[in-house]
Amino acid sequence: MKNIAVIGAGTMGNGIAHVFAQKGFKVNLIDVSTTSLEKALATISNNLDRMLAKGSITELEKEATLANLSTYTEIAKGVANAELVVEAATENVDLKLKIFEQLEAAAPASCILASNTSSISITKIASATKRPDKVIGMHFMNPVPIMKLVEIIRGYSTSKETMDSIVEMTKTLDKIPVEANDYPGFVSNRILVPMINEAIYALYEGVAGVEEIDQVMMLGMAHPMGPLQLADFVGLDVALSICNVLYQGFGNPKYAPCPLLVNMVQAGKLGVKSGEGFYSYEGGYKNKVVSSQFKK
Ligand code: NAD
Repeated sequence: MKNIAVIGAGTMGNGIAHVFAQKGFKVNLIDVSTTSLEKALATISNNLDRMLAKGSITELEKEATLANLSTYTEIAKGVANAELVVEAATENVDLKLKIFEQLEAAAPASCILASNTSSISITKIASATKRPDKVIGMHFMNPVPIMKLVEIIRGYSTSKETMDSIVEMTKTLDKIPVEANDYPGFVSNRILVPMINEAIYALYEGVAGVEEIDQVMMLGMAHPMGPLQLADFVGLDVALSICNVLYQGFGNPKYAPCPLLVNMVQAGKLGVKSGEGFYSYEGGYKNKVVSSQFKK
């Protein structure tokens, strides 16, 4: 494979385009928003500058990476010669089904169609195409240029050829592929999100305060970040939506979102992106303080 298309130029899309372009692939980055495309190119360029300053790439590699990137606002034009499409558009099932219908019509018949979804069923996404054997989950972690894991999700009809080809492709990106079957939350979010939800329950029930809960998990379990801070980083709306996918997908009350999480999302306290969640970020991300709601 040489020609890759990435759909969605947000947080994940720009990172995915970056790693493919740096490994020599020709990347068409596609977004409906020209602002997102401009921001994505600026972010990639800044990240390359940081790598250059650290000596991990040369000026020539930076130039070559940028030269491998082209931007498009129309899916049909951007995927016309693609051998692999990685979809990283907004997490919304109807939107993804519509995009995959468009991909079925516009991408070459041999093209593999991957989705970076955090929680939507790959089997459901594949049902929007006539090539479910070529539809697969390629779940990169944030921030993409740094995190080694790519969770590779086998939909109900994904073929062995498609799995093998994407596992090999992931290795060429210097990432580590780990295979999972297509059940709610896959492996990563099935384990991470209930842990975050349980930490919120511990706070809600007054077992301990925000900092204490995070400290126990950082100092006692060697987690680099406590679960409540991580929830702020992921976005409380995202955590809630994944909780609901697990709850509905398994029909098991153990996955029910904590009422405090539901309340916080309804109040618009979404974490870092809204300026406040369990912590307040008015002084910047590094100068966080416990939100006044949770001060003792
Ligand atoms: P984001 O909101 O930062 O970016 C989404 C982009 O998709 C936006 O630029 C938007 O303009 C674009 N978009 C919307 N509709 C489009 C369309 N029809 N065609 C082309 N582009 C379109 O979102 P994100 O955080 O980058 O998440 C993208 C995907 O990656 C989601 O499926 C999410 O679940 C998954 N994911 C996110 C993370 C994370 O930490 N943010 C981690 C792993 C996976």
